[in-house]
Amino acid sequence: MSTQTEPKLVTQIDFARAGQITPQMKEVAEREHRDPEYIRERVADGRIAIPANIVHIKKGMRAFGVGEGLSTKVNVNLGISGDKADAAEEWKKVKIAEDFGADAIMDLSNSGKTRQFRQQLIDETPLMVGTVPMYDAIGYMEKPLVKLTKDDLFEVVRAHAEDGVDFMTIHCGINKSVTKTFKETGRLMNIVSRGGSLLFGWMEVTGNENPFYEYFDELLEICHEYDVTISLGDSCRPGCLYDSNDATETAEMIELGKLCKRAWAAGVQVMVEGPGHMALDEIAANMKLQKRLCHNAPFYVLGPLVTDIGVGYDHITAAIGGAISASSGADFLCYVTPAEHLCLPNAQDVLDGLMATKIAAHAADIAKKVPHARDMDDKMGQARRKLDWDAMWKCALVPVTGKKRYEESPAATEGTCTMCGKMCAVRTVNKVFEGTTIDLGMED
Ligand code: SF4
Repeated sequence: MSTQTEPKLVTQIDFARAGQITPQMKEVAEREHRDPEYIRERVADGRIAIPANIVHIKKGMRAFGVGEGLSTKVNVNLGISGDKADAAEEWKKVKIAEDFGADAIMDLSNSGKTRQFRQQLIDETPLMVGTVPMYDAIGYMEKPLVKLTKDDLFEVVRAHAEDGVDFMTIHCGINKSVTKTFKETGRLMNIVSRGGSLLFGWMEVTGNENPFYEYFDELLEICHEYDVTISLGDSCRPGCLYDSNDATETAEMIELGKLCKRAWAAGVQVMVEGPGHMALDEIAANMKLQKRLCHNAPFYVLGPLVTDIGVGYDHITAAIGGAISASSGADFLCYVTPAEHLCLPNAQDVLDGLMATKIAAHAADIAKKVPHARDMDDKMGQARRKLDWDAMWKCALVPVTGKKRYEESPAATEGTCTMCGKMCAVRTVNKVFEGTTIDLGMED
């Protein structure tokens, strides 16, 4: 009889590799119209991540799958920040994220009672919760950046894991080799990732290696204990079109690919973060390169924004890039709001940004042939063909918006809208097929 004890299965990837289908895999399979075995196989080899901290599962979170063959997920960023710490406004944003179909909320709080906000969020929301511990570190440890030690940073990561955070953006890939490439080759916008810039500053002043890179195995132990999915941050994502697909971005991506393999070997789920800003014709190649270098790990992107000059309308520039990136392989879109590059978004910005990103994700899902992605579009076509307005509202991403606009502008001709009135093309052709009179109001 063997005296060896079996390794403890904790993470979704542990169970998947042991051939076991977890309740979370079943839930993802059901929602995505996939066989549970399809999900298990891809969780086992890292192509799908199910970010679900064991603490958050106990609080009743819904399980979401991110990755190959699944619908594109959408994230909303919010959180209390130093310049505008208004927790009530942030809770309004949480409600919008939940009511209007976000899959994840990233709590980017960096000032004030961040732990209280985070714990309450995890208690209350069934959506995936992500954080960036580096943002929280300075306030949490009450120390200036350069005084933070490796132990301080890891203490913050552990606190977030214990609180039940499902995925953490950690900028592990910006090591001394990548910063050397950055300094040698130069960039127009340098480093625009907040966490990446803090780590770069810390490394330059202390002369030390990035602790998240140097002690990556220790980080993996914490993540494994709670099944935190590591979202490998892209410190060197391009902050303008000029910097996209440059040596620095690619150098970091190569490092992220190596870290993916180490995380999977330790039974930790991984996602990889991506651009940024990028010309439309470069996006598809970037997605393919990332998938190749990072061994098909789920890809989580911010847009990318396809022009740098859409100031005030960057939810649109990002949605265009988001649709291209997701249809070319990205699995998870972080929303961008009209306030991008300008100020902390308000609740209306959050709604506008979320809807733009959801439309991009949905358009991509149709192109990716995600099972049943087009069903509602086809129902909408049928409803429009019949001029059945109530059915149209039921198909719309946001029923209330369309209904309100329609009712504010009553049509004189029944069944039509004020866009064409009696010259409604749908009505005219319906009448042709019905064999009834086409009355355009000029007959008398
Ligand atoms: S009136 Fe014009 S826009 Fe309105 S439903 Fe008919 S065809 Fe469409």
